[in-house]
Amino acid sequence: MSAREVPLVYSPPARPLEVPADAVPPAGLIADTLGRPLRDLRISVTDRCNFRCGYCMPKQVFDKHHAFLPHAELLSFEEITRLARVFVGLGVEKLRITGGEPTLRRGLEALIAMLAELRTPDGRELDLTLTTNGSTLVKKAAELRAAGLKRLTVSLDGLDDAVFQRMNDVGFPVADVLDGIAAAQVAGLGPIKVNMVVQRGVNDDQILPMARHFRHSGVVLRFIEYMDVGATNGWRMDQVLPSRDVLDRIAAVFPLVPLSHSAPGETAERWAYADGAGEVGFISSVTQAFCGDCNRARLSTEGRLYTCLFATRGHDLRGLLRGPEAVSDDQLAAAVAQVWGVRTDRYSQLRGSGQAPQGERRVEMHYIGG
Ligand code: SF4
Repeated sequence: MSAREVPLVYSPPARPLEVPADAVPPAGLIADTLGRPLRDLRISVTDRCNFRCGYCMPKQVFDKHHAFLPHAELLSFEEITRLARVFVGLGVEKLRITGGEPTLRRGLEALIAMLAELRTPDGRELDLTLTTNGSTLVKKAAELRAAGLKRLTVSLDGLDDAVFQRMNDVGFPVADVLDGIAAAQVAGLGPIKVNMVVQRGVNDDQILPMARHFRHSGVVLRFIEYMDVGATNGWRMDQVLPSRDVLDRIAAVFPLVPLSHSAPGETAERWAYADGAGEVGFISSVTQAFCGDCNRARLSTEGRLYTCLFATRGHDLRGLLRGPEAVSDDQLAAAVAQVWGVRTDRYSQLRGSGQAPQGERRVEMHYIGG
């Protein structure tokens, strides 16, 4: 077997974590060095995906030689739920299930049912949501809802089959994703958001057809600027179509009025159609960075804590969970608080001022979820 045929598993280096046996978390909610609280935890439950979107998991890199993480390396549902409980104790109110494609994780409904049981320290339910490419929703939407999922976000990068199939690079048809969105609406998984990553010269001709299609549908359509996530998508600035241009294209046909943020740390700039046909959003990490109130942490499928989408290294929580010494929830909380407490991340802001950190390879988005 030649070197090139050795299956390549993507598992970036992580910082080990150590906590004293008597470590206790700080009382009350925690904040990072910029005063940002920890409110939103994105949990990647698998590194597998059935799509090969070029801006996230390009086929020429994640090809037939690519191997996914062995199951034993993944956090179990019990480990995920235990960690989620610890994060909720530190201030997290929103859990987003991601991947890869999370619905490919067998028995996902069981995990969702476990997470749906969690409550904030003052007894409130959590905002439990999921991001999916929609490929399995026709079959799974009702089960996910029954398990306790509240709402979801579907990625869809165009309505034209040729454009969409070129972007997902596995020939997956638009109609099946649209059927999945309809099934999710019937199952009561609303409000449903649809995310479209816009690449200049690739799918920007789909902006108006998408806007037209989702007007009056109750679905919130968001346009995402193409980002330099990871180190494999060959990102160039000239492929970014700024959200301002996307907004102008839509407003020229369908007048828009601004809406205020619905929650602190929200990534999307919200606008409504002036004629009442619904809402659209713009997620502009490249041209309008939103690091100032970023309250998001990410947990990789093998239990590494990342404090930024553009991070280069994670912190190994699984090592604590599976270490020789049993650790208490207080020790886990102290470890998370220690990491968050020294957080300084603001990659998009720095990129915007030409000071983006260079050198180490950024973590891949398919590994920690968007
Ligand atoms: S670049 Fe990092 S710090 Fe800034 S908003 Fe994104 S995840 Fe948050």
